[in-house]
Amino acid sequence: MLGQLISRRVVYPTTVALLIILIILEFSFDVPWYVYTLVVLAWFLITLCGSFFIGWNFHMKSWHSNKKIEQNWVSITFDDGPNAEFTPQVLDLLKKYNAKATFFCIGHKIEEHPDILKRLLEEGHTVGNHTYNHSRSFGFYGMEEVKAELEKAKKTVKEHTGLTMNLYRPAFGVTNPSIEKAVNQLKVQSIGWNVRSLDTTVRTEDMVLKRITSKVSKGDIILLHDTSAKSVAVLERLLVFLREKNLQSVTADRLLGIKAYV
Ligand SMILES: [Zn+2]
Repeated sequence: MLGQLISRRVVYPTTVALLIILIILEFSFDVPWYVYTLVVLAWFLITLCGSFFIGWNFHMKSWHSNKKIEQNWVSITFDDGPNAEFTPQVLDLLKKYNAKATFFCIGHKIEEHPDILKRLLEEGHTVGNHTYNHSRSFGFYGMEEVKAELEKAKKTVKEHTGLTMNLYRPAFGVTNPSIEKAVNQLKVQSIGWNVRSLDTTVRTEDMVLKRITSKVSKGDIILLHDTSAKSVAVLERLLVFLREKNLQSVTADRLLGIKAYV
């Protein structure tokens, strides 16, 4: 993907260099104003996409898959739980199909349902950090605020389980320089995905399932949410599909060969 070649560290200096070249050219030519506008607009659009498409690794490195894996493994991940109604249903299905998953939990929801967190850990799944509040304005937080959110969620899990989480899933998949700095300072591993189900949109169960099954293959990380009946229904059909294709879901840390806890 072209996006994988585009990083902030290349785009920002290139934009500045282009603007300097244009200013120098002004001494010899009359550079039209729209040329400047185009350069700035291109910079803005690339930065915007790079901030929203975690797969670009524009601001920071996240893990999105492990295509070099020899085993027939994929990794199902769930964001935004624990949910009193749906997470237990998800756990029942994972048990039924002998699959393991990673749950990127929201800190304040863990405070409400610590028993569900304990159950998922007892059943061999992994818990990862998905911020404490999952605020809609998270993408506008400064570095200290991002750090505080991650540390609060980390502390919550530590208090309930004794585990120190090493995996972090950016809320909304948004990354930026503040999040990059916080992740580096806290030395956590950022986990993205390469198969996005879009299960939280208006898409039907069939459409969500097809989005996954039309592209999933060995080494992929799948994004789902343990927050709706639709996602639970998709999960059961996905687990049947994976079994037919001889693919096994394992935790993200196992797929990637990294530590879930430190
Ligand atoms: Zn989320």
